Parts: sequence; structure tokens; C-alpha cells
Amino acid sequence: MKLLVTGGAGYIGSHTCVALLEAGHDVTVIDNLCNSSAIALQRVQEITGRSLRFVEGDIRNPEHLADAFEGGVDAVIHFAALKAVGKSCEQPLAYFDNNIGGTIALMQAMEQAGVSRLVFSSSATVYGQPEKVPVREDAPLNATNPYGRTKLVMEQLIQDWCASRPETAAVLLRYFNPVGAHPSGLIGEDPRGEPDNLMPYVAQVAVGRRERLRIYGDDYPTPDGTGVRDYLHVMDLARAHRKAVDYAAAHPGCEAFNLGTGRGYSVLELVQAFEQASGKPIPYEISTRRAGDVAELTAEPALANAKLRWVATHDIHAMCADAWNWQSKNPNGYSRDMSFNTYSR
Ligand code: NAD
Ligand code: UDP
Repeated sequence: MKLLVTGGAGYIGSHTCVALLEAGHDVTVIDNLCNSSAIALQRVQEITGRSLRFVEGDIRNPEHLADAFEGGVDAVIHFAALKAVGKSCEQPLAYFDNNIGGTIALMQAMEQAGVSRLVFSSSATVYGQPEKVPVREDAPLNATNPYGRTKLVMEQLIQDWCASRPETAAVLLRYFNPVGAHPSGLIGEDPRGEPDNLMPYVAQVAVGRRERLRIYGDDYPTPDGTGVRDYLHVMDLARAHRKAVDYAAAHPGCEAFNLGTGRGYSVLELVQAFEQASGKPIPYEISTRRAGDVAELTAEPALANAKLRWVATHDIHAMCADAWNWQSKNPNGYSRDMSFNTYSR
């Protein structure tokens, strides 16, 4: 298939491009590089031995999108979004504009180009503070911050759009906590500035970029008092997108799927697993709870297991080993001053 991947230079997008190219799909990426580097795409090509087309552009710009749709597209995988919860509280309008505005522009371009299949990056954040875990897809939805609200609104807009066009198929993928990296160590997670998320923070402590981890609370009602999450290897997540594209080809309508392992790990358990994988001590201090955090969030992945025929296969040790492999080979992430050699604009 000819696939358009928005945000394909980013963390999850680049790993998904590897899975798509390896499955024989033709891939065009549109990305404005606001939170990524074109080097990731070079490395995707290095890993797969295949080339992809890169349009450096913004999905809110109709001309850039028209460029991306040139040559025909069978389905779109839509990663492009701003994703920092804290920043979304400071600059909600930027998040509404980029995420919601970008998604509307993308659906308009899809209509114009006659493309009717969409795979969308949603998030476990749409469950807000869930009443019970593991969470099922039919649990009540709720936003607790502007980023989460954009995910919820985008899901609803996509649902309404699908309902208006019977031939349209949309798969909403609600990711839990993606971590890890491609086993080659060539691509991985490279946050700008201080990482918000646990795994990249731990990895930067291990490699000596940060002094110590701050653990946000040890007084939660969990076995060791620290927060419990459902960590998921990014290569398992990448494979789920491949499955979702195939599913969309055969199933018109709009459906949501949880993507997680169904197994939770506490912050302290993850730190211990990382110490084992890296052989490095991870100094930490206990600090106060982070606003908006829940004690425990894990997925019920049965629906994705049954309908997408997808199951997560990597355990926490593989997640930590691959995260460390990437971080130790690229202590400073990608350097951001190189451009992609075949970009089309
Ligand atoms: P990322 O920031 O690494 O990737 C997003 C990419 O989109 C970046 O390359 C960025 O440059 C690009 N982008 C943003 N706005 C754009 C625009 N207007 N036009 C073109 N490109 C644009 O983030 P990621 O972790 O790879 O996340 C991918 C998607 O998955 C996002 O939608 C995110 O909200 C969602 N998600 C991520 C996580 C996570 O923990 N990483 C969890 C749940 C959901
Ligand atoms: N966390 C932490 N220190 C950090 C970052 C995160 O203790 O520097 C904790 C956080 O409180 C939560 C877990 O690690 O319990 C996962 O947080 P992350 O931000 O990675 O994911 P999310 O909050 O989206 O589940």
C-alpha cells in the first residue's frame, strides 16, 4: 500500500516507518520537525535498506498536505501532534491549533484526495482518572488537561467524520506507555530539553546527562507506593500500526483499541529493571506527587488481541535493554543540524 505518515520523523512514527517499510509498504512522511530530526528518517532507511519520501511541511498547511498526497495514498497514519502535558497547560491554544486544527486539515485533504482510511494516535489519557483498572475501551472518557482534551476532541471529530461517509474506516489507537527503541540502537526517543517521561529520564541519568531521578510520590495505594503504568515496547506498538492499516482496509467505521501489555510496573520496578539492563546505578530521590498523575493505569488489551490479532511480545527487560542500547550509543540523541537528502520541498 501507499501510506502517508504524518509526524513520521518522531519517536513512534520513525519506529512505525521501519515496520511499514519492512512489510513492503511505500511510505511518504510529512513532518515539520518541530520536535524531531530528519536524521531519524535517514536511519530508518539505513535499517530497512529502503527509501521513503519526505515532505518537510506542516499538516495545517493545505499546500504542504497537497504535496504529501501527490502520487496517491491508500491510507494515512496520523502521529503529528504536540504531546507535552505541562506545556499544554501553559499554551492550550497552541495545542488546540496544532492538534485539532491539524487533524481537521488532514481530514479535509483526505476527502479531497479520496482517501478513506485513517489510523490515529490516541492515548490512554482519554480515560482521565479511570474508575477501575485495567481499563476497557468502553470506560468513561474524560480529559484532565488540554493535551488530553485535544486527543478526546480529535477522536470525536474523526468519529463524526466517519459517520458521515460510510466508506471511511478509522482506527483509534489508545497507547499506554510506549518505551524502548529499535534493537539496532539507530533510532530511539530523543526528547528536547528535560524529559517529562520516566524512561527517557532514567536513561539520561544512566548515561550521566542528569544527576538523579525524581520519583513523583511514594504514597500511592500501590504495592510499593510509587505509580504503576503499562509500559509497551515501541516496536510492538509499531507492529500494531501495520495491523491497524490492514484492519482499516477491511472494516469501515470507527473503532478504538487499547494498546498495552495489560501488566503494570511501578516506578521502582522500572528503575530496578533498568539498573539490571544497563549495569548502571540510578540514583533517585522521592519528591511530591506530580499534579494530574493517577496511582495506576493499565490496559485491558483483549480487543486489540482479538480484532487486530496483535499482542505485545516484549517484556520490561527488553524495553529497558533497548532503551539503554539507544541511549548509550547516542548519549546526546540525534544532532539536529543535518537535513534529509531527498526531501521533496
Ligand atoms: P513526537 O513528538 O516524537 O512525534 C510527533 C511528530 O509530529 C514530531 O516529529 C513533530 O515534529 C511532528 N509534528 C507535530 N506537529 C506537526 C505539524 N503541525 N505538522 C507536521 N508535523 C508535526 O511524539 P511521539 O511520542 O512519537 O508521539 C506520536 C503520537 O503519539 C502523538 O500524536 C502523541 O500524542 C501520541 N502519543 C504518544 C505517547 C508517548 O508516550 N510518546 C503516548 C500516547 C500517545
Ligand atoms: N515519573 C517519575 N519521575 C519522572 C517522570 C515520571 O516518578 O521524572 C512517574 C510518574 O509519576 C508516573 C510514571 O513515572 O507514575 C510514568 O510517568 P510518565 O510521564 O512516563 O507517563 P504518564 O504520566 O503519561 O503515564
